[in-house]
This record gives sequence, structure tokens and C-alpha cells, in this order.
Amino acid sequence: MINESRLLAQFMDYVKIDSPSRHEGEMARRAAQALDAMGLEVVCDRAGESFGSDGFNVLARLPGEGESVLLTAHLDTVSPGCGIEPVLEDGVITSRGETVLGGDDKSGVCAILEAVQTILENDLPHRPAEILFTIGEECGLCGAKALHVSQLHSRVGFVFDASGSVGRMVVSAPGQLKIHAAVHGRKAHAGNAPEAGISAIQVMAKGIAAMNLLRIDAETTCNIGSIHADFATNIVPDLAQMTAEVRSRNAQKMAAQAAHMKACMEAACAQAGARLEWEEEVSYLAYCHGADAQPVAMASRALEAIGCAPRPEAGGGGSDANVLNQRGLCCVVLGTGMTDVHTTKESITVRNLTDSARLALALMTGE
Ligand SMILES: [Zn+2]
Repeated sequence: MINESRLLAQFMDYVKIDSPSRHEGEMARRAAQALDAMGLEVVCDRAGESFGSDGFNVLARLPGEGESVLLTAHLDTVSPGCGIEPVLEDGVITSRGETVLGGDDKSGVCAILEAVQTILENDLPHRPAEILFTIGEECGLCGAKALHVSQLHSRVGFVFDASGSVGRMVVSAPGQLKIHAAVHGRKAHAGNAPEAGISAIQVMAKGIAAMNLLRIDAETTCNIGSIHADFATNIVPDLAQMTAEVRSRNAQKMAAQAAHMKACMEAACAQAGARLEWEEEVSYLAYCHGADAQPVAMASRALEAIGCAPRPEAGGGGSDANVLNQRGLCCVVLGTGMTDVHTTKESITVRNLTDSARLALALMTGE
């Protein structure tokens, strides 16, 4: 029932629309127009203003019978993602090689749009559906964070935004915490009076050297991403800054790792008489759904109905699902077949595009 040639044409068209994070304006307008042209009620918000984007989240409602479901995908793409030229060869779509393809996440956007179109033109019985296209997913889930979730009627959601062929379901994902730290030492002339100074670089290095980093345990990781201090060699540096992240599927372990890192840095500062500034910010929280969770059960039934075996898996990254789960919905992330995402080798098969649309259709029309 899915119109594969229309779906493919729309995908090839949409990936050519430049929509790097914070510049999703045109793509958001096009998606809103497509939903409006199908006769859906469309609401555009002002989420872009919260993070310097010219775009907006697009929410549309398809009235129906039964319990409402949310189907969502994001409109932005990562860099290099401008001037994308899609190439179709032997059923596989790639970019020409200088950019990403942007199937992350326009595969999700197109699958959902094609499913809605199929319902409407065939007059298929369906449950109420909310279609949400977010912006700023790739730069920190900014669009989802700025969304007013109180306007959503659905309690169950499906995020069409995972790599892996159709059938893959990300049922758990880690949370992430960001750390910004600064060590304040004391400036002195490095040649004349070094003993009068406190080297912020040396203190920070001691603090870091005492930390457990990288793989902490099966569900927790940690990494320092930047260290910054830039002084002339004849000055004892009085400031060093760093950023780090901690990820864990367990919120307590995430907090414990951050506390451990802070304690290491505090001890190094105390020993040298330096002052520590330490900021922690939870980017998003972890989630974990069992097999009996409603979206897992619903997606499993829909996948079986379209002849794809459900493959529930643990994910390693954050997505809009983390934000939506944190804010009261129950969401899983579904594989759309995107492969090698965030690289210039990114690809997707036409088969997966079509299966994603069939899955979206089954979620709206199935039991
Ligand atoms: Zn994505």
C-alpha cells in the first residue's frame, strides 16, 4: 500500500534541503506544508528561539479512534550536510561522498509522512496520531527540550531515529551529564618568583591523573573532551578549564562518577591552595523499558505484522526519546535502516525506507 516511488522521490528531495542544526527553517516549513497539504492540523512552535535556530518544531494531529500514539523524527542533520547530492545505485542511497546523506533523520521524516498519506488516500481505519518533527536534535536535543509536552495527547511514542535495519528497537539508553570545571591558581613570574605562584595547569593535571576515566563499568563511561589554558611560558598560569561528560544507564552511577571526579579535583586544589569551580549539568536522563512496556509491545506487534523480526537492544547514545521519556511519555527508538550515520559514507536502502513507512503505517493502523 506504501507508494515506494513517491516515498523515494520525497526522500531524495528532502535530503537536498540544507538543514544543519540551527538552520532547519526551510526544512521545517516544507514539512509543515506537507502535513498541511494532507489536511492535518499543524502547530509550529518557537523552539528555535531557545537555541539560536531559524527553525521550529512541527506538530500535527491526525484524529482517529482509540489510544493516541506519537510518531516523531528530527529535521536537522550533522555536518558536513550542506549541498547534499543523493545517489541511488542498486537500491542503495548514498551521498556523493563529500557530505553525510542526511538519512539521519530524513528517513524517519519521510517514512512517517508516507504512512499518513497512505492512511488518508486509502481511507484506512487508524488510531489518533500525533506527528512531531523536531529541530536541534543533533546539537543537544534542543528542540525536544524546548517543546511544550503538555500539548501532547499521546502517552506512547515512537522515535524513528535509530541506525540498524527495520526491526531494531532501542529500548534503553544512557543518560548524560556534562561537567565544566575551572581551576584558579595564582599568577607569578615563572623565572623570578615561581614559588609565589600556583600553577592551575599543574593542579588540574594532578586532579585528572587521579581520576578513573573512560570505561567505568558495563553501563557507565566517562571522557574529558577539552582542557584549556593558554599562557606565555614565563607566567605561572592562574587558570585552567576543562569539559567532560559522564554517561550511564544508571542515574546513581552517573552521579557517583561525577562526584568521584569532583573529589579528585578538590583534593588536588586543596593540596596546592587553588580554588575549584565545578558545574554539572544533566543533558538528559537514562531510560530502560522492559518487554512488557507499551511501546515495546506495540512496536513488536507492528514489526511482526509487516514481517520484520523485532530486535530489542540497548543503545549507547542520546536521542529525543531520552527527553520525551524524562517528561512523562513512554518512548522507544526504532531503526530506519540508516547506516554509517554522521559520516560521509552514510547510506540507506530503499527497502529499509519502505519498511520504515510500513512500520509507521502499522503503528497507526494496527492493534
Ligand atoms: Zn538522528
